[in-house]
Amino acid sequence: MAERKPFDRLLDEVVNEGNCSLCGACQNQCTAEGAFAVDVASGDVSVHPELCTECRSCLVVCPELASSDRAVDALAGEGLLGNVLDVSMMTTGLWRVRSAAGGVVTSLLLHLLESGEVTGVVIPSAKGAWGSGHVLVKTPEELLAATGNRVGKLTTIALRNGRVSNLSVLASLRALHAADPDAGDWAVVALPCEAYTIARMRVEKVEPYARVKHVIGLFCFTNLPGHAAGLRKFEQATGMTLGDLASVSFGGTVRLTNAEGETRELALEEALRFGPANCQRCADVSARFSDISIGAVGAWPGFSTVVARTRGGLQALHRAQREGYLRAAPDVYSDAPERGALEEGLVRSVQGLAERKMAVVLA
Ligand SMILES: Cc1cc2nc3c(=O)[nH]c(=O)nc-3n(C[C@H](O)[C@H](O)[C@H](O)COP(=O)(O)OP(=O)(O)OC[C@H]3O[C@@H](n4cnc5c(N)ncnc54)[C@H](O)[C@@H]3O)c2cc1C
Ligand code: SF4
Ligand code: SF4
Ligand code: SF4
Repeated sequence: MAERKPFDRLLDEVVNEGNCSLCGACQNQCTAEGAFAVDVASGDVSVHPELCTECRSCLVVCPELASSDRAVDALAGEGLLGNVLDVSMMTTGLWRVRSAAGGVVTSLLLHLLESGEVTGVVIPSAKGAWGSGHVLVKTPEELLAATGNRVGKLTTIALRNGRVSNLSVLASLRALHAADPDAGDWAVVALPCEAYTIARMRVEKVEPYARVKHVIGLFCFTNLPGHAAGLRKFEQATGMTLGDLASVSFGGTVRLTNAEGETRELALEEALRFGPANCQRCADVSARFSDISIGAVGAWPGFSTVVARTRGGLQALHRAQREGYLRAAPDVYSDAPERGALEEGLVRSVQGLAERKMAVVLA
């Protein structure tokens, strides 16, 4: 009997079940050299076993592979918020970190790098507010230069039930791994759609999944448009030239600041109307598929809301706090509400944001 290849699962579970939409995502991510091992050009899915590198990337991106969906969903836990081991409000404990939203992500990453727990951190490359692609950062200096939000690169595919998978992050992680194949664990900062893709990589064991020790997810209601037509509409509606954008703050609203210091503030739903189409289909606001999720909603100015979802994530947060990289609200203000009340308020805020997004997705 011929040896089974990863794409046989696509044939069995998707194509032969009549569920293939010929979307081409499997071909698009195929890493076979010279020609595609899985090919939809003929108007059907044809395969070339002799070319297949068994990278399993086609299993990460197929929007119809229900067995992957089920396995990934099981990792994230139940409900709109998924697994929650701990919720807290934190800020940086480091004078060298300056960030309006608390600098929690940067401080946590600094801890992971400086403690040697990871040897690299994957973040969007910086070009003002517009990140393009991802970079692997290995020094505190590079990391400190990357505080704040980037619009990020957003090639996505909508799956069923409000899941959106980000294809750019799969391609980026593969390329970064090829350029830096030596052993060494990474932390990756990810939007919910990126965290979902990484979770699928973990489930399907697609390299470099084993190197991704921590996924630090950012809450995300919407993003800015990524293509010319969307940008033009957005510029007409806001009166703001996005080429001049100096910073963007996503939290309770979307606040844009240009190089001259002028600002415009939009309600999240308003910004979402101009956002990428798949943002309007994406139900995950709180980065359910990450190890630690961080966002602005519910937190005081200068703080972030931090959700630990996995044991490894919780331990990393505790270590960062113990070593002074992070400070929880009660460490800063002795009159902060007691822990239970604080947690309850934060969960309510994140749940409220998730419900607002569901109302759009279901509309
Ligand atoms: C597109 C987007 C939408 C968001 N929407 C919301 C929201 O609706 N509600 C909410 O409460 N919070 C939202 N956030 C999260 C919030 O704005 C802050 O990013 C978060 O609170 C972390 O703040 P910080 O000060 O700890 O981050 P910092 O210490 O400044 O670190 C931010 C880190 O995130 C990385 N990063 C920035 N942009 C991206 C990106 N697009 N993809 C991956 N990594 C990135 C940076 O490189 C940096 O390492 C959003 C963030 C983004 C990027
Ligand atoms: S990725 Fe698209 S084209 Fe490929 S098997 Fe799945 S549905 Fe069909
Ligand atoms: S396993 Fe990799 S090489 Fe083989 S068909 Fe899938 S994407 Fe292509
Ligand atoms: S709203 Fe969803 S699809 Fe859009 S950038 Fe955020 S996580 Fe990705």
